[in-house]
This record gives sequence, C-alpha cells and structure tokens, in this order.
Amino acid sequence: MIPSVLPTYNRAPLSFVKGEGSWLIEADGRRFLDLGAGIAVNALGHAHPTLVKALTDQAQSLWHVSNLYQIPQQQALADKLVAATFADTVFFTNSGTESCELAIKMARKYWYDKGQSDKTDIITFDGSFHGRSSAGIAAAGSEKMTKGFGPLLPGFVHLPWADIDAVRAAIIDTVGAILIEPVQGEGGIRPLPDQHLKELRAICDAHDLLLILDEVQCGVGRTGRLFAHEWAGIAPDIMMVAKGIGGGFPLGAVLATEKAAAGMTAGTHGSTYGGNPLACAVGCAVMDIVAEPAFLADINRKAGQLRQALEGLVAGHPDTFEAVRGTGLMLGVKCKVTNLDVVNAAYDAELITVPAADNVIRLLPPLTISADEIAESVARLDRAATSLETA
Ligand SMILES: *Cc1c(COP(=O)(O)O)cnc(C)c1O
Repeated sequence: MIPSVLPTYNRAPLSFVKGEGSWLIEADGRRFLDLGAGIAVNALGHAHPTLVKALTDQAQSLWHVSNLYQIPQQQALADKLVAATFADTVFFTNSGTESCELAIKMARKYWYDKGQSDKTDIITFDGSFHGRSSAGIAAAGSEKMTKGFGPLLPGFVHLPWADIDAVRAAIIDTVGAILIEPVQGEGGIRPLPDQHLKELRAICDAHDLLLILDEVQCGVGRTGRLFAHEWAGIAPDIMMVAKGIGGGFPLGAVLATEKAAAGMTAGTHGSTYGGNPLACAVGCAVMDIVAEPAFLADINRKAGQLRQALEGLVAGHPDTFEAVRGTGLMLGVKCKVTNLDVVNAAYDAELITVPAADNVIRLLPPLTISADEIAESVARLDRAATSLETA
C-alpha cells in the first residue's frame, strides 16, 4: 500500500523535535551537530532569536495579504536587496524552482520584446540543479531528473561543466541567455573558477546575452560574500535566490537589472504567496544580519578553520576520503568509499551531513556555527570515518 506521504524521498530514520543554533535534537534527547542546515536553508541556525522575533511579531499583526495590495515588508526587503547587490528590481517567490521559472520567463520576454522572439535558447551545464519544476528539470537536463516526465520544455542547450570553448562554440543566433550556478551544490560542490565566470560575463557582453546566475544554494553569505559571484568581480543580469534568504521560512527571489527585467510588466507574472508579510519580515531580519561586513568576515574566518580541519581529516583517512573542495562554508569532501556510508556513519556519530553527486558529502553548516562547534564537527566526522574503517 502506498504510504500516506507520497514516497518520493529517501528519508533517514531520524526525527527532530527541536533546533537550537547549530544543533538538532531528537525526542530522546540525542543532539546532532547540523552541518546540513536544511541544505543551506537555516543560514542563521535553528531558532535564531532575531528571526523568531521577526516572525512572531509579524504573526501577531498580519500573516497574508494578496499582491493586489501594497506589502511594506516586501518593499523593505526588495530595497535591502537592491541596495546590497547589482539588482535594480526584485520579484519574490516561495522557492528556488519558482525563481528558476521566472528567470527563464524573464529572459525569453526580454528577447521577445526586442523583436527577437527566436532567441529562446538558454545554455546550461552538466551537473547543474535548478529545481524540480518542469522548467527546472528541463534546464538541468539530467536523465535522473527528467526520465519519464516528457515532453520537456524545449530551449535548453546542455554543455559540459567549466568548458569555455564549448560555450563559445554553442553561441548561435537562437541563444539568448546562459544559466549557471557559480558553485554547484547538488552536483557535488563544484565551484566555477572566478576566471571562468569572468569569461562567461565577457561572452555575454560580446554577444549581448543575458547571464543568469542560480545562487539558490551558494548565495546569502554561504561563500563568505553576500553572493558568490562577487568573488569574480562580475554581476549577472538575472539572479535566482532562495534557501538561505528565508532562514528556514519559505522564501525565494529573482533579482534583475532594469534592462533584463524590462519585459516583466503588470500582468506578465504573479504569485499568490510570493513576498507575503511573514516571509518578508523574516527575510529582512536575515538580510540585516548576513549583509553586515563583520558577519561576512567572520564566515571567512570560520570557513578557513573548517577547511583546514577537513584537510587534516582527509590526510588522516586516505582510504576513506579523497579531497576537500568548495568555498566558504559550502564545502564538500569527495569520498573513496560510498558517500552514503559516510553520511550514515556520521549519523551514528550524531553529525548531520548531506550527500551530493560525484560521491561527495556536503558540509553546509549554519553561518553562525562557532569555532568550538566546527572543531567538534570534524572530531565527529573523524569518529565516523574510523568506525567505517574498523567495521
Ligand atoms: C535547492 C536548489 C534549487 C531548487 O530550490 P527549491 O526551493 O527546492 O525549489 C534550485 N537551484 C539550486 C542551485 C538549488 O540548490
């Protein structure tokens, strides 16, 4: 008999009743260090007092109003995002995949309105992940996600990862945009070299294409800058955001320049919940904390500590681990044994990690994790590796 919850997930036999900072707690009191953070969602850890206050204060006054009316919390969050980024304008969604939908629509509408309605193709890359909507799976294009769900949305050109010559060769008249994650998350924590991102920007400038960045996982402080592309000193035309921006409350956004957003006039797009007062009150509180230079500097210090400790761990377990990769607090450890075995052994050591493609385990701690918690996390991962090696 089919379970009452549609069985689309492989769930671990863990069930948490409470979260406190970097910790998740089961009913029997077992305390897990959470280096998954809801897959880079709980950017400020669990039950951050400022976020709890923002949410409960808003809940006392107004939960939801339609986008038929003015929403001051939404306006405030848009103003913060515009002030802190390349963007001139923001549309709010509830998830990453909805942000993907709008990014694609915006790019196509841009060319349509310019009288070039044949420029519908968008270049995307192997190993990418843009969400599970029909457009998101078509954009990523992997067999794993698309098989059985056709006919797929046409108009995506899938290229190998980090191959700039392949991009140059693929640019023909029907291409209107390039869509890429500056750091692949699901694909196995694969950062795109800064130089490569710069070259993509240059190609887009030379051919008048739109550069769309998917910063759903790598954005909102994760890499030690507010958004990952800042490291390369470039700016996109359109950017997808979600996950960390709501700190655990469902919230996403599409940020765009005035030029790229020109086609999205009244009536061209909408969302019932997108940008609702509860989500935006929390989003404002997240932005006020994460966008602070001192907070970002602290992420970089902690990232250095975690990376160094992981390098030591890998060196000490050469048969279990291969290498550390990633950037900021978005790190991956490529495994020599099956990554799921490591994730399960880490559960036994009361540590949460997240599997990714390419046999990698992901470490995406809350950005608020302490130095002691980082040291304890790596000690737990060390125990997990030792337990696998002596099993
Ligand atoms: C998680 C993710 C998405 C999809 O976000 P949802 O909120 O699950 O729809 C899209 N792109 C990237 C890079 C992601 O990591």
